[in-house]
Amino acid sequence: MSIAEAKSKEIRVRIAPSPTGFLHVGTARAALFNYLFAKHESGKFILRIEDTDLERSSPKFEKDIIESLKWLGIAWDEGPSRQSDRIEIYTKYLKTLLKENKAYYCFCSEEELEAVRQDQLSRGLAPRYNGKCRSLTETEIKKRLTEGESAIIRFKTHGEKVSFNDLIRGKIEFDTSLIGDFTIAKDLTTPLYNFAVVVDDFEMKISHIIRGEDHIPNTPKQILIQQALGLPQPQYAHLPLILGPDRSKLSKRHAAVSVANYREEGYLPEALINFMVFLGWNPGTDQEIYSLTALSQEFTLEKVQKSGAVFNLKRLDYLNGFYIRQKPLDELTELCRPYLPASPAGGPKAEKDFLKKVVGLHQERLKKLSEITELADFFFQDKLNYDKELLRWKDADDQKMAESLDNLDNLLSEISERNWAKENLEKVLMARAEKIKDRGYLLWPLRVALAGKKASAGPIEIAAILGKEKTLTRLKEARALIV
Ligand code: GLU
Repeated sequence: MSIAEAKSKEIRVRIAPSPTGFLHVGTARAALFNYLFAKHESGKFILRIEDTDLERSSPKFEKDIIESLKWLGIAWDEGPSRQSDRIEIYTKYLKTLLKENKAYYCFCSEEELEAVRQDQLSRGLAPRYNGKCRSLTETEIKKRLTEGESAIIRFKTHGEKVSFNDLIRGKIEFDTSLIGDFTIAKDLTTPLYNFAVVVDDFEMKISHIIRGEDHIPNTPKQILIQQALGLPQPQYAHLPLILGPDRSKLSKRHAAVSVANYREEGYLPEALINFMVFLGWNPGTDQEIYSLTALSQEFTLEKVQKSGAVFNLKRLDYLNGFYIRQKPLDELTELCRPYLPASPAGGPKAEKDFLKKVVGLHQERLKKLSEITELADFFFQDKLNYDKELLRWKDADDQKMAESLDNLDNLLSEISERNWAKENLEKVLMARAEKIKDRGYLLWPLRVALAGKKASAGPIEIAAILGKEKTLTRLKEARALIV
C-alpha cells in the first residue's frame, strides 16, 4: 500500500458545531461518539467551527463550545478551524460548479418563491423550486449581476435516486425529485451549510461522518454535491435522537440542554460522559461506570442503537452522586468552593480545614455540587432565622423545651475546647439521651438550634464542626426564643 493510500484509509472524524448557542448535550454526545470512535480506531478527531451563518454565530458561543469540550475531557487532535477563515476555498469550489453548469444563479425574489410554494402546497405537492432560473443565458446572468440584482446560487438536481449505507441505520434512499434545486450559497463568498460541509469534509479528509439523526435529510444533498465535484463519499453513521421522558425530541421543556448548565449546577464531567455515552450506545453488559479510557477501548458503532435514546435525569443524578462519593475530600472541597460563601476569618489554611469538614459532612448525600449551598448554609450564617415552633419536639410544652435546651447548654459547657470532638460529644450526649425515654427531646432541639432546619446532617457532627463557642451561642439563641 502506498503512503497516499494508507493516508486515505486513515480514520478521521469530526465534530462541526455551529456557534449559534451554548454547546448542546446532543452535540456533546456526538462529539463524544466521534472521539471514542477515533480513539478506538487509532484515528484522528477534528474540531471545526461552522460559522457560515454570520448573523447567528457569536464568539461567545464558540468560546463556550471549546471550553465545554475541554471540561468534558473530549480532546481533539486538529483544529479548531473556522469556516469563516476558509472562504476562498468555498469560492473556488462554487466557481467550479457554476462553470460546469452544475449550479446556477437564481434571481427569484422571496415573494415569488413563497407564491410558488403556496401554490404547490395547495395542490398537494412537495414544495420545491420550480426551475425558473435554471436555464438563463450566460449573458443575461452577467447583465443582471452587473446591474446589482440580488441572486443566490442553486444546485441543479436531476430527479435521480440517492442512497447510502448508514453504518447504524442501514440503507437509506432518497428521491431527489422531491428535493428540487436547492440553495448552496447566498453568493460566491457566502456558502451555506450543506455546501461548506461537503468541501470541508473532503479537504479535511474526513472518513466517517458521525452525527445526529436530524441530519439525515441533509445527507442526500451533500452526496449530490460530492458527486458533482467528483469527491469521494465518506461513510455515514447517524446517531439516534435524544428524547425526553415523554419520548418527544429533547427540549428545554424536559431539562437543561446545554453542557454549561449542567456544569454550573455542579455535575461532574465524569458523570456527564458516562451518562451521555449511554444515550444510544450500550456495551451489552451490566457495567455502568466507565472512564474515558475504558470507553475508548469498548466503543464501537455496532453497539449504537437505532431507536431514540431517553434522557433520564435521575440516572445522571445517580451517576453524579457516585462520582462525588469517589472524589478525594481535598478535591471535592475545591469543587464545592464556588457554591459556598467565603468562610470565617482565620486565614486560608483554617478556611480550607473548615470547608473540608463541611463538605466531608455532606459528601455522602450530595447529588450535585450546587446542593451544598443549601445543605450547609447554616455553617456560614451569623444568626439563624427559624420559627420557634420548629424547636418543639412532638408535644413538648415550652417548659419542657426550655429544660431540654438548658440541659444541652449545661452538658456541653462541661466539655473543654480541647475535647470538643465528635466522639466526646457523642459520648456525653448519648449518655444523657439514654436516660430519657425519647432521645428526640434532646437531639431534635439541638439540630434546630444549630442548623435552623428540620432536615440536616447529624446535630452532633454539626456541633463538632461549629466549635464550642458557636454551638453554645446558638443554644442560647434558641433558648431566648422560649420565654
Ligand atoms: N454545523 C452542523 C451542526 O451544528 C454540523 C452538522 C454535521 O455534523 O454535518 O449541526
